[in-house]
Amino acid sequence: TRDDIKGFFIRNAFVIFTVTAVIAGIILGFALRPYEMSYREVKYFSFPGELLMRMLQMLVLPLLVSSLITGMAALDSRASGKMGMRAVVYYTTTTVIAVFIGIVMVLIIHPGRGSKDEFSRQQTIEQVSPADAFLDLIRNMFPPNLVQACTQQFKTQYGKRVVTVKVTVNNTVFSVTNGSEELTREELIPELSTVNGINALGLVVFSMCFGLIIGNMKEQGQPLRDFFDCLNEAIMRLVAIIMWYAPIGILFLIAGKIVEMEDLSHMGGQLGMYTITVITGLLIHATVVLPMLYFIITRKNPFVFIAGLLQALVTALGTSSSSATLPITFKCLEENNNVDKRVTRFVLPVGATINMDGTALYEALAAIFIAQVNGMDLNFGQILTISITATAASIGAAGIPQAGLVTMVIVLTSVGLPTDDITLIIAVDWFLDRLRTTTNVLGDSIGAGIIEHLSQHELRTKDAEIGNSTSEE
Ligand code: ASP
Repeated sequence: TRDDIKGFFIRNAFVIFTVTAVIAGIILGFALRPYEMSYREVKYFSFPGELLMRMLQMLVLPLLVSSLITGMAALDSRASGKMGMRAVVYYTTTTVIAVFIGIVMVLIIHPGRGSKDEFSRQQTIEQVSPADAFLDLIRNMFPPNLVQACTQQFKTQYGKRVVTVKVTVNNTVFSVTNGSEELTREELIPELSTVNGINALGLVVFSMCFGLIIGNMKEQGQPLRDFFDCLNEAIMRLVAIIMWYAPIGILFLIAGKIVEMEDLSHMGGQLGMYTITVITGLLIHATVVLPMLYFIITRKNPFVFIAGLLQALVTALGTSSSSATLPITFKCLEENNNVDKRVTRFVLPVGATINMDGTALYEALAAIFIAQVNGMDLNFGQILTISITATAASIGAAGIPQAGLVTMVIVLTSVGLPTDDITLIIAVDWFLDRLRTTTNVLGDSIGAGIIEHLSQHELRTKDAEIGNSTSEE
């Protein structure tokens, strides 16, 4: 009946809007490509998308801190210890599998043919030693200044900027003007650009310890527990509002990127094969390995679970940032998939920060591809080194766009590959970044589902305790 149809639309409004937004974004993007917009015009055009990014990022800091603190405070140390162990085992297993798939794919398909002739090369990237990078990873866990940890800067992708053309005659600088307008041109910034973010790893470590402690503080801890509970609830209500805007933002993020992307005609050779190899690897991990793992452990239909995550996955695709997607991931898991809040609050912020299957797969694969392009044969020891450093690099990568490209320096230096060769794969990274971010978010979400299933016993015991104490009052 009509009411049924209406009900269906209301229940699935988000999914319908989101899917429509993606399709509309792709169509609009390709329709506008022939107009060859300038960098500045693209910036204006994708402004609604930029706003979505900013809104989501705005919520990450309070959401991450409040959810971890309340999540940890709601469990006793034994229960959180057990859940923590399960999370660590899950993160490690899935990351190792992801790295393995990446390596196998790149060795079988062998996209690099041992020549760099067909690549357009760009700038130089600074050198980092793997040892320093490892130490940095651990350093970041203990931020000396919490306020600073909330405003950490990250190096990220190569950016473009608009510059005014100037000429110098006898040491005097003239701006070249064209009538009333100064002549401007677009330029690739010759260094990695920085973005403002948070030191999520440091804040995760601090919030977990803090939450555990106020959880153990009995009545004395109650005001703080109430405060962070309330903060968390308020932020989640903000997320609910932003979700209505999300489809519009996603539409413009996707359309803007398609308008801006480089011509794909040079994609035929090694770079094209490389792209296909990464996509295949990510697809195997996301559509076979993770669902299978979920099914084996929980005996529930993984695709029903994934359907509930659709909006989060599309947001990851649109924003290429797992940390910006975090608010939506929370909503999807708690509301569509009914995952226990004590699990999501604990597992999701940690997962978004350190568990990046897609990034790990990609880093190992890309490093071996670069070795192939350089005509270098890697022995077993070197491949093992790559797997270990790729895992570390994925843990160290912030959940922001193209962070994985930057941490890849660690993987390359560990086996003596030229770090400048990162520039070989920059042209396609914006696209692969979106796919690996989606895989990262999926990995975190399935992890939450699996850990909830395995922790049923602890959760029920805790429920019973709370039930007893309230009935005694
Ligand atoms: N953009 C990815 C993420 O946010 C990280 C990466 O660059 O691999 O999950």
